[in-house]
Amino acid sequence: MATQRIASASARGAVGHSSKKSSLNPSNRRILQANAPALAEGSQSCRWKSTPAIDINSSVVSSKEGDKDIISVVKDLPTGERRTDKLDLSFLDHQAAFKSKTTWEVLRAYVVFNLCAIRPLVDHNEKLMKLGQAVLGKALFGAIMKRTFYGQFVAGENRAGIKPVIHRMHTFGVKSILDYSVEEDITQEQAEKIEMDACVPDAQKDSHNPEAVPHKGNYTGENPTENSISDQESLQENQLNVSKTYLDEIKRYKAHKNFGDRRSGVSSARTYFYQNEAQCEKNMETFLRCIEAVADSTNSTGLAAVKLTALGRPNLLMQLSEVIVRARRYYQEISGQEGFVHEGKVSKEAFEKRFKEKANYEGNPDAQKWLSNMTADKKGLIHLFSWSGLIDSDLLLREVFQVPNLKTGKMENMMNVLTEREEEQFHNMLTRINTILSAASDLDVRVMIDAEQTYFQPAISRIAMEMMKKYNQEKTIVFNTYQCYMKIALHSLTLDIEQASRQNFYFGAKLVRGAYMEQERARAEDLGYEDPINPNFEATSEMYHNCLATCMNRMHELKQYGNDMEKRIGIMVASHNADTIRFAIQKMKELGIEPDERLICFGQLYGMCDNLSFPLGQAGYSVYKYVPYGPVNEVLPYLSRRARENGGMLSKLDTEKKLLRKELTRRVLTGKIFHKPEGDYVPVGFEKMPRFNS
Ligand SMILES: Cc1cc2nc3c(=O)[nH]c(=O)nc-3n(C[C@H](O)[C@H](O)[C@H](O)COP(=O)(O)OP(=O)(O)OC[C@H]3O[C@@H](n4cnc5c(N)ncnc54)[C@H](O)[C@@H]3O)c2cc1C
Repeated sequence: MATQRIASASARGAVGHSSKKSSLNPSNRRILQANAPALAEGSQSCRWKSTPAIDINSSVVSSKEGDKDIISVVKDLPTGERRTDKLDLSFLDHQAAFKSKTTWEVLRAYVVFNLCAIRPLVDHNEKLMKLGQAVLGKALFGAIMKRTFYGQFVAGENRAGIKPVIHRMHTFGVKSILDYSVEEDITQEQAEKIEMDACVPDAQKDSHNPEAVPHKGNYTGENPTENSISDQESLQENQLNVSKTYLDEIKRYKAHKNFGDRRSGVSSARTYFYQNEAQCEKNMETFLRCIEAVADSTNSTGLAAVKLTALGRPNLLMQLSEVIVRARRYYQEISGQEGFVHEGKVSKEAFEKRFKEKANYEGNPDAQKWLSNMTADKKGLIHLFSWSGLIDSDLLLREVFQVPNLKTGKMENMMNVLTEREEEQFHNMLTRINTILSAASDLDVRVMIDAEQTYFQPAISRIAMEMMKKYNQEKTIVFNTYQCYMKIALHSLTLDIEQASRQNFYFGAKLVRGAYMEQERARAEDLGYEDPINPNFEATSEMYHNCLATCMNRMHELKQYGNDMEKRIGIMVASHNADTIRFAIQKMKELGIEPDERLICFGQLYGMCDNLSFPLGQAGYSVYKYVPYGPVNEVLPYLSRRARENGGMLSKLDTEKKLLRKELTRRVLTGKIFHKPEGDYVPVGFEKMPRFNS
């Protein structure tokens, strides 16, 4: 298969944005040129199209070179009976766990995991790595890292470099999710400054900057009691003793300096800080190159992962999240119903009736138009706003998030004021995610949108759902992520499955426990809102298993309809927890969901918990490793997180060390020290054995 190269990204017209008029000045419709050296925001030398490939590409073979050098070509091998081993559900079978590894690799893992158990080493790992770099020089330090930590947790420097690793995993039944793992190495102070700059709305920052002057919409901020929903709320809050839960919820969508460094307390997830639009363009290009790499090196059976905070300014996600909560409250006030709009408890007609009683509706064309634009089906309301207008046409946030005032019937902005620049930045963010998903759809690569902090998550999840609606019409291309440490996880998941069914699109979900627990708890306590996280680990595990069971029961239900209806739901069990994997497998057996149906797949990180991933893959389950790659001296922050995460899971680490020790002993005693890992497994989803030409 020839190496595939995605053409100029944004310019590909992934989004139907150009079709509609915009109230913005056309010269503002632009994205800064990503590879121009440090272009300042607002600079004039901008262009409205994607950039050429970024630096990872310079270390990556070009399409032509790639064709010659290293290609994962499919040789016509008949699959025949797929080789599958019996799965030992104790996950303590060391031979099955490490047969894809040379003895040197087993020994390296043993040494690395032992080092991860030394507390001072883990606590000071960043300083030690910097010291190592300074004393030994980058080249020697890089070489040592490659033989140790880097070799354990990172697959290679570039697309060409990771192919042998990916290929070897494939021959042992394990597929890949590619993740370009270069992370910014900035101090806490820098992170806080960058975050506060990016998270505070322009209008609150600098009233002298003409760019920061709020757009004069119908909400000018001059007469808040009449015009602004938020001020209307504060009046009502005082007068009507508005529910504490609602006030609690609103509090969390404000940036807070103490939590400006979003990395703190987080070891199992990457953090992106917003620098400017050019950087976001670069990030988009990186994601596009990952998608190409997936298409190219995994025969499109691999996956790619995307983070929305990498693609735009985070305050916009915060403000959008806040609007979602405000909209819920508005809906509750009019309908008299608790809960979310798309729970479908209220029909459009009933909503309209209540609205007529409360607001000045008759003879009010704006309010009538607004009501007629709401999305509903025979079960009831789905959305108050035109999300597709936002995603697919040039509608601005302030145009979409308008509602009639309950007393006067006049249309008002539900969102706090955005400047034209912010509207532009939001538009750019949507264009980028659309460009990525459109490319993924063309190349038949599935993309998981990662879940992040609770104050971004309502917006991320909503955008992910809209993207599913757009791209998952014939198969599951886009996956949303559900964090089961959240008290509301099952509720959100159930509603989203329901929405997918009502709006007739394929639903993809990655289930995780959640990576931001400590930070979420500390923030809730500091800012005085209810802790959004389940009270303990057991409650999180129970939530995880309930979410998983809900999805699987739904698959089972759909299966009864025939026509491959069960394929309308796809789940990734992204966890290193053996009990959770056992639960999934048990439930699959109970409901007759076969491993090779690819309805359920499993995900673990490269270099961690091989005792779960490899036996699963070799037993014919669909399983993925998150495969990080990037130049050795630039992935140190990633390695530092890996060291910390491993250092924090001592009991899992003990199990892995014990298994590695047993395998080493077995190889020595049986004379298998020179074991050459050559697998003949065909991963689920492959019809033929992938072949690697070196
Ligand atoms: C392939 C993959 C993709 C991922 N993608 C994302 C993502 O998009 N977003 C994201 O947030 N995370 C993501 N993660 C990380 C994930 O959320 C977990 O942090 C990590 O996997 C550890 O959970 P576990 O189930 O593997 O292991 P376990 O060790 O069984 O569980 C640890 C987790 O349990 C929860 N927990 C621990 N103690 C408590 C407590 N006292 N109260 C409540 N809950 C508790 C926490 O979530 C903690 O991380 C991903 C992980 C993988 C493997």
